[in-house]
Amino acid sequence: MNQGLLPTAEAINKLIQEFNRLPGIGPKSAQRLTYHLLRAPEEQLRLLAETILAVKQEITLCSICFNVTDSDPCLLCRSEERDQNKICIVEQPQDILALEHTRIYKGLYHVLHGAISPTEGVGTDDIRIKELLERLKDSQVTEVILATNPNLEGEQTAMYLNKLISPLNIKITRLARGLPFGTELEYADDVTLTRAIEGRQEFQ
Ligand SMILES: [Zn+2]
Repeated sequence: MNQGLLPTAEAINKLIQEFNRLPGIGPKSAQRLTYHLLRAPEEQLRLLAETILAVKQEITLCSICFNVTDSDPCLLCRSEERDQNKICIVEQPQDILALEHTRIYKGLYHVLHGAISPTEGVGTDDIRIKELLERLKDSQVTEVILATNPNLEGEQTAMYLNKLISPLNIKITRLARGLPFGTELEYADDVTLTRAIEGRQEFQ
């Protein structure tokens, strides 16, 4: 659907198009959001615009785990309550949110920022694998939990990491199979995720 053809003001069309570019927002939702904002007070819109900009301006990546953060190292890496012997490897920062929500895992994290995907041109050097290995060297980590997504790319990435980490004499586990294949961690519910963490098994 070409939004440019809608018989409405240019500024409205532009906003509809911007919303439409966001994940999970189709043309209809984009229109609804736009017309909703049109009716909102200017002050609310200003706050929204500033909040959106602040996400980009104030957020950086933790130099240890590569989670998104407004302070480096991030809260999780700085916390003395976290189990320093465990690192859970995830694809995206929002996966940490999903896992933290279960309140079952108390270790550290490492965010890869993607998964190996030859079809999409994402190679082993394009995600934070080098940094992970550097981090594991001379660390007190005794267990690495591979929590990449239960889909083709996630499995490929887990297998590759297993090969690299195996010689380091660190226990490698993978989230249990309770997660349906083809899904993404961030959309898994708490109960399923809790079971997946508790039931994690040694990777083979
Ligand atoms: Zn961190």
